[in-house]
Amino acid sequence: MRLANITGKRVEEYLEKRKTVLIPVGSIENHGKHMPLGTDTLIPDRIVELLEEKCDVMIAPTIPYGATDNIYGCPGTITIGTDGLIMILTKIVDCLYRYGFRKFIILNGHGGNCKAIEAVGMYLHKKGAWLANLNWWLMVGELRPEWKGGHGGAEETAGVMAVDPSLVDMTYINEPMNLIDDVSPDMPTIGWNTVNFKGATVTIPREYANYSANGWYGTDEPHLATEEWGHEMLQTMADYIVDFAEAFEKIDLPEEK
Ligand SMILES: [Zn+2]
Repeated sequence: MRLANITGKRVEEYLEKRKTVLIPVGSIENHGKHMPLGTDTLIPDRIVELLEEKCDVMIAPTIPYGATDNIYGCPGTITIGTDGLIMILTKIVDCLYRYGFRKFIILNGHGGNCKAIEAVGMYLHKKGAWLANLNWWLMVGELRPEWKGGHGGAEETAGVMAVDPSLVDMTYINEPMNLIDDVSPDMPTIGWNTVNFKGATVTIPREYANYSANGWYGTDEPHLATEEWGHEMLQTMADYIVDFAEAFEKIDLPEEK
C-alpha cells in the first residue's frame, strides 16, 4: 500500500489495525564506471515492488538522497550529509508519528546512511516507538554468504541487473578496483576509509576519489554478476521483509521516556 496513492481516510483505516510504515532510503553516488549513480535507490525501490505483491504494509515515498560525504567529488554524487538526512528523516517520522504510526522500517540502500538512521531510531525509541533498519546488502550476505559483496561489486551489480540490465555499462564491467595508497606507501589502502599499518586496520576518513581510481570496492568483482543472481537475491530480501514486517507489527511498543 503506497502512502502516495491513497487518501487520508484510507490511512486512518490502516492505523486502526496497524502501526507500521516502511521508508526506503537511498543515495545518489558513484559506484564505479559500470554502475548508475542511483544504485542504492534503484535496488531498494525494486525490493519494495516485489514485497508489495505479497503484503500490504504501508510504504512511504523513497528518500532518494543520502549521506555520502566520502564519495563527494565523483561527478554526479550528491550528499545531504548525516545532518541533512537526520533532519529530513526526523521531519518525516514526526509527521507519521502524529497520525499514529509507531513502527518504522527503514529499507536502507547505503552504508553511509546508517549513522543518521540510527540517530532517528534512538529519537523514536524515547517517544515510545520502534525503528528497524534493514541494510539489504549486508543482510543478503548473511542469508546467503555467496551473495556477500562490496561497493559496486558483483552483489550490487547483480542487483542493478535485476532492476534493468541496460543500466549496467558493460564497457567497464572488467575495470579493476585500482586502490591508491594515498596516505603513505607504508600505509596501504585496504578499504573504505581504512589503511593497514603493521598488520592492523586504521580508519582515516577522506574522500573516496583520493584512494580509488575507479569507484567500486570489494572482493566480488563486477564481471561475476548475473541477472539471475540479482533476481533471486532481491526476491529473497523482499520475502524476508514480508516476514519481518508481520513479526514487527506484533511486538509491544517501548515505554515512552
Ligand atoms: Zn551501493
